[in-house]
Amino acid sequence: MGSKSHKTQKGTEVKEVLCWASPGCHDACRLQVTVEDGRIVKMSGNRNYPKTRMQGCGGRLPHLIKWLYHPDQLMHPMKRAGERGENKWEKISWEQALDEIADKLTQLKSAYGPECLAVKEGTYRSDLYPIRSRFLNLFGNPGNFVGPGTVCLTNRMALYYALMGTCSVIQKKGSSKCEVIDGWNLTESREISRWRHLRRRHRDGAVKLIIVDPRKTKAAETADIWLQIRPGTDTALYLAWLNVIIEENLYDEAFVKKWTFGFDQLRERVSQYSPDKVAEITWIPASKIRESARMYANNKPSILDGGVASDQIGLNSMRAEQARVCLRAITGNMAVGGGEIYVGPGPIIDGKMGIRDSMLQLDEKLSPEQKQKQLGADTYKLMAWPGWELMNQLYKETYGIPLCMSGHNFSAPEPLVWRAIITGDPYPIKALITWTSNPLLNAANTKQVYQALKSPNLELHVVMEHFMTPSALLADYVLPAASKFEKPNLSTFEDFSPIFTCGERAIQPRGERRSDYDVFRGLAERMGFSEYFPWETEEELADYRLKPLGITFEEAATKKHIIRSDEWWTYETLNPKTGEATGFATPSGKIELYSNILKELGYDPLPFYEEPPESPVRTPEIAEEYPLVLITGGRVKSLFHSENRQEGTGLREQHPEPLMDIHPDTAEKLGISDGEWAHIETRRGVIKQKARLTTSIDPRVVNVEAQWWFPEQPAEEPILHGLWQSNANVLTMNDPEVCDPLTGGWPLRALLCKVYKTKTETD
Ligand code: SF4
Repeated sequence: MGSKSHKTQKGTEVKEVLCWASPGCHDACRLQVTVEDGRIVKMSGNRNYPKTRMQGCGGRLPHLIKWLYHPDQLMHPMKRAGERGENKWEKISWEQALDEIADKLTQLKSAYGPECLAVKEGTYRSDLYPIRSRFLNLFGNPGNFVGPGTVCLTNRMALYYALMGTCSVIQKKGSSKCEVIDGWNLTESREISRWRHLRRRHRDGAVKLIIVDPRKTKAAETADIWLQIRPGTDTALYLAWLNVIIEENLYDEAFVKKWTFGFDQLRERVSQYSPDKVAEITWIPASKIRESARMYANNKPSILDGGVASDQIGLNSMRAEQARVCLRAITGNMAVGGGEIYVGPGPIIDGKMGIRDSMLQLDEKLSPEQKQKQLGADTYKLMAWPGWELMNQLYKETYGIPLCMSGHNFSAPEPLVWRAIITGDPYPIKALITWTSNPLLNAANTKQVYQALKSPNLELHVVMEHFMTPSALLADYVLPAASKFEKPNLSTFEDFSPIFTCGERAIQPRGERRSDYDVFRGLAERMGFSEYFPWETEEELADYRLKPLGITFEEAATKKHIIRSDEWWTYETLNPKTGEATGFATPSGKIELYSNILKELGYDPLPFYEEPPESPVRTPEIAEEYPLVLITGGRVKSLFHSENRQEGTGLREQHPEPLMDIHPDTAEKLGISDGEWAHIETRRGVIKQKARLTTSIDPRVVNVEAQWWFPEQPAEEPILHGLWQSNANVLTMNDPEVCDPLTGGWPLRALLCKVYKTKTETD
């Protein structure tokens, strides 16, 4: 792939753009972007779309143009010209970059095997994960791609495939009678438009609202019931709900009898979780546990939804979601007419299916021997080949297409990559490609990640980025990545969605920026896989994916935007192959309250509660020195993960400094006043954030913001743009014994810490 010339854009155009990926959240609002002579001059919500009729989001949208044209945006490929962290670079051409990277990968592959490459990525920042897997499967890599999906929503998707055989859900947001929102600060994170809708319906008395959150968020202030839960104990709460609903016969007997498996075993299990017992565990009064369980069961259709909080508690993460699946099922809220209907793949038009991610991934190119080498596959089986093989067979039999293994429902746990780089155990990881991610900020145990990225064992580190982040400062090659405005989008959200969502590119890539597709295609060409990347551009790839549906990408992106099936493929839909109701793609053909797949993988088939790895109950000896329960990751509207920290965009200016939420009584005892810098320390490290005194949090709990770095501070070591100052992952841990045994998910919340005054402003 030589130098890439882009079509010159002349005059004024209005482009139909899908707003997701960086910058901003992945709420997929529809935008109209005005371009003059190839430069974006205006962005606004697309008034034809209810979700963005109110101009998308106030916090981010008005500032995305400044973000795109920020002076620090990377424009040219760069090769390291000094030590890692010295911030010395040589500008090189794309040809040189891709030639050298491909040569090095080929050399390392022959010396250490294709498993010596790992790929680190971020939360849904690209719709090209099937292209990444296509490249890795052809390379012979066992699937050593890692990301936050292990602790952020997609771990739940893997569980849904095991318990229900699908994870695509249609939620009745417009007509729900009760909504439960757990660990999701709707007014600060994504789905802001959802909160507007829900608040209006609640105000009109159309829906009951239950909020489960350690903090009294804006939504909790207006809720019918706010459950101020002890962080890390979500599973116990939902097992107590199951106890009440089954004991009081508030469940949907007909649906349970016909469409669930294992009800008696579940009844037996939850009989151990009475509200009185669980009240002690969760800090929630037993009366409120009963009242909220009844409100959820008696107001149907109801929605039980959650943010990523319980995905990030380590050991017991997946059990919280397993209990929620049981609740949705036994209350009949998964039945047609219920609040959350799980459907099969799509889009299907006139009996033909569009090309979904799973139909691009080429998993069949990888040998069984190589699959066995996937990091963690012998231990954390649900999101790895052992789990996938079981679920894929059932999915294929039911829906006729392979199960997606390029999405983050399937990935190796990233702590194993850092460990393999440092120790060579179970085998050496010698090369790392980091795209859509900033691991020094978003991965747990920053000290370990830093050690890995600085290690001489890591012979090649390539970063694709928009800005020179702390992680990019430790790379050997930094490649300038095109943003969502500089590339087209066709997404099935990692095949979690049964529809295609499409948006056109607004402008040609700025400077020498390239899309992720160009990089993987460029490497594939140099490594002998070019026949598998026949599409010159992403638009051609999108045309190929839409062809079975008789639609062109241009039509899809500029007129239709959302391509959905003629009808949803539900469990009641007659399966074209068998002529019988499709049911669920599980061993029993039903929703499995008692999971045969978890059992076959060697796990307890039923949900159970387990104390967080570090807690006042489980580790009282640690709590003596570290008496406060720590949650990390409270969202801030204008910031997204480690993004938008650059000054001058209008995004950072809305929230210039990291804030720790602490109760006034606790702060007073520690002599800390509002707005003062304070140290937060765990057994792993210490950082500082500014204290925000608030009664919205329990006096025994503190919340620190995540992924803080400071582009305005020096880039060179040891400062690395303020990496060590306020970064919450300096405080977190990822040791095998604290991770979720099903997925390898590490705890970012419900840790133990102590807080104390800083001696001086700069201390
Ligand atoms: S909420 Fe804002 S940032 Fe998120 S997708 Fe919508 S417009 Fe974009």
